[in-house]
Amino acid sequence: MDGIDPQYLPWQTPLLQRALQLNSEQHLPHAVMIDSTSDQDLSAFIWHLSMLLLCDQARELDPCGACEACRMMLAGTYSDFSLVTLEPDEKSKKLSKNIKIEQIRNLIHEVSLTHQYDRLKIAVIYPAEAMNKASANALLKTLEEPAAGILILLLTHNRGRIPITLRSRCQSWSINPPTAQQSIAWLSEQGMSQQDSERYLEYANGDPVLALKLQQHDYASLVEQFKARFSQFLRGDLGVSNFCGELLASELPVVRRLVNLTLTAYCYQSSGVDAAGNPATGADRARAQLLLDLRQRAQKQMQIEENNLDFQLQLEDVLISLKQILTRRYI
Ligand SMILES: [Zn+2]
Repeated sequence: MDGIDPQYLPWQTPLLQRALQLNSEQHLPHAVMIDSTSDQDLSAFIWHLSMLLLCDQARELDPCGACEACRMMLAGTYSDFSLVTLEPDEKSKKLSKNIKIEQIRNLIHEVSLTHQYDRLKIAVIYPAEAMNKASANALLKTLEEPAAGILILLLTHNRGRIPITLRSRCQSWSINPPTAQQSIAWLSEQGMSQQDSERYLEYANGDPVLALKLQQHDYASLVEQFKARFSQFLRGDLGVSNFCGELLASELPVVRRLVNLTLTAYCYQSSGVDAAGNPATGADRARAQLLLDLRQRAQKQMQIEENNLDFQLQLEDVLISLKQILTRRYI
């Protein structure tokens, strides 16, 4: 994690209030699983929530930043707080995909030690879905025999991937996604116009944090450019290698997003229902099925992480298949 930056977003407020309330009543459970359906990183929220629970002089939902616990938390030296997360691989420097069993064993050991301070002891695992079976099993025993004054927080973007044995031993809390109104209000606070907010929320499937990021990268211009070049490609005025070469000037997540957006739009068009939910006339079921299959296949094919020849080959294959589906005649 780069630096310690405690923050929360307006739609995370109910969860902070709930934690604070239970803490003040001394009814905080010993293990909580917090799930979020959005992909948005929860690191800043974890630090905010933990500091809020540890702070001696919190003002409403804000830790004071100055008491002993706050100062040590901000310096990353509070010994009664542990965070287990994905770590960079020693050789490749890339983030590992799994939380390793040694990390969980260390955490269990930390939890078993006596409290250094006369406050709650907090242990966090994020993203909890990155634990493998062995890690989850190792943790299970600690959850079965909770020690006093300990809060174990498991945060996940994919609750379904956590073994049910673990889930059943945690109280379940959810970060509900923001309403459209909350999203637009927040984006307006960040300086985005109403018109841009609506457009970018659509690109970001309603996630305002992603919408803001996409606007900072002028994603709307990229979409327009992509549409123009895609039409030329369909007409045969632009070759697939040149088209892919141009696309790969952008980062891979952007390319994936553009292709996925296009495939989704065509799926809607052909499925008999448009994006607004209206039935389209003359729907072509055969084409719709081919498009749906292609979209599913494309999502898998484009999971390659390096910007290399393999990705270009997969991308070319997807675009050629799309062109074939769109230009073929259906009776
Ligand atoms: Zn404080």
